[in-house]
Amino acid sequence: MIAHGLNIPTIEDEPIIGKTVLVRVDFDVSFKSLHKIADDTRLRESLATILYLLKHRNKLILVSKLNRPEKRDKDHSMHLVAARLKHYLPLHKITVVDDFLDPKEKSIFEKQQPHEVLLLENIRFYKGEKENDQDFAKKLASLADVYVVDAFAMMHRKEASIVSVPKYLPSFAGLLLAKEVASIAKVLKHPEKPFIAIVGGAKIPDKLAFLSKLIQIADYLLIGGGIANTFLFAKEVEIGESLVDKTQVEQVKKLIALAKKEKTEIVLPTDFIGVKKGKKDERAEKADDISKDFEIYDIGPETWALFGNIISKAKTIVWNGPMGKIEEERFARGTDFVYYSIADNDQAYSLVGGGDTLAAISKEEYLDKITHISTGGGAMLEFIENGTLPGLQALKK
Ligand code: ADP
Ligand code: MG
Repeated sequence: MIAHGLNIPTIEDEPIIGKTVLVRVDFDVSFKSLHKIADDTRLRESLATILYLLKHRNKLILVSKLNRPEKRDKDHSMHLVAARLKHYLPLHKITVVDDFLDPKEKSIFEKQQPHEVLLLENIRFYKGEKENDQDFAKKLASLADVYVVDAFAMMHRKEASIVSVPKYLPSFAGLLLAKEVASIAKVLKHPEKPFIAIVGGAKIPDKLAFLSKLIQIADYLLIGGGIANTFLFAKEVEIGESLVDKTQVEQVKKLIALAKKEKTEIVLPTDFIGVKKGKKDERAEKADDISKDFEIYDIGPETWALFGNIISKAKTIVWNGPMGKIEEERFARGTDFVYYSIADNDQAYSLVGGGDTLAAISKEEYLDKITHISTGGGAMLEFIENGTLPGLQALKK
């Protein structure tokens, strides 16, 4: 049972044996080029649930989206993922069902053998998925006896396979979903103190509610990345030509006031690495003396030490969002430093998530030193904000 007051049964709570099981997985892997997968973490993270269900002699029908196609399109086909799945399930036959709504495909389901895993074509090829169409959800549900949801990264989306199919079948959380919820809920309920939150990235509006929640539960909030610029701007610090979101200044002032009330210390960078507009070479500048033509692209060495020192004392750490423009290696050093500071703190419970954050650290050493790396970006943020998610509500008994 998933705890945290949610009352959601998991696949370990009831025997699911010899059934046809529809499984909502998250195979939304990233690609280097059309046929080259860059990172298959999400697929690998689904394997525990898939193997568990196969071991109990169930016939599996897997459902996932891949990227964001608006319509049927071979560049977003599940055929691109099927070969990788076969690699991890060498004893099974993997069959992609091109259109499960087509009556001609019906025999594929009727003839399915226990060693055969069916993979439905990209579920976003169907309009009914995003529109949360109830007829579409019923048709999906009609394929199986049992529904298992394991796609944590999708749980904040109100799509048919997430929020509606569970209405029409006995439904359970998979092992990844259960692990994600338990790991994230741990920082919400009785976290050990000091609790250090670290937030970076570029877009304030995406993170306002998240920041506001963190201010309520953390002791320190370290801010880096582009969003730090708007905080500095709100405090009337000169930031030159750096990225800033002037529409968010009032919201940021409210966060600063909330932090004062909650006695949470917001720690802003004291120096930066960037370039002078139009110049090539990077340089460091101090926060109290930024040139009018300076563009901030990373936190500077003094800030690495400042953040590193606070992180080293933490008992609970939550991190989302890179400290700089990580797409350029020369501006990825602040993010690396924060990552290694977290990995170095072996007394803290650490939770890390976010698409770009994971991309920045996925090739690093010591990933096993992080207590939990979430597969969900938006889903992790929303779960921390609200303590639940639409997809979890749908699974509640
Ligand atoms: P995540 O996907 O981990 O939640 P975000 O999407 O919030 O992270 O932020 C990642 C983006 O923020 C990256 O594209 C990075 O280039 C950008 N970014 C971070 N710091 C800066 C900066 N100082 N100036 C411009 N862009 C930045
Ligand atoms: Mg992102």
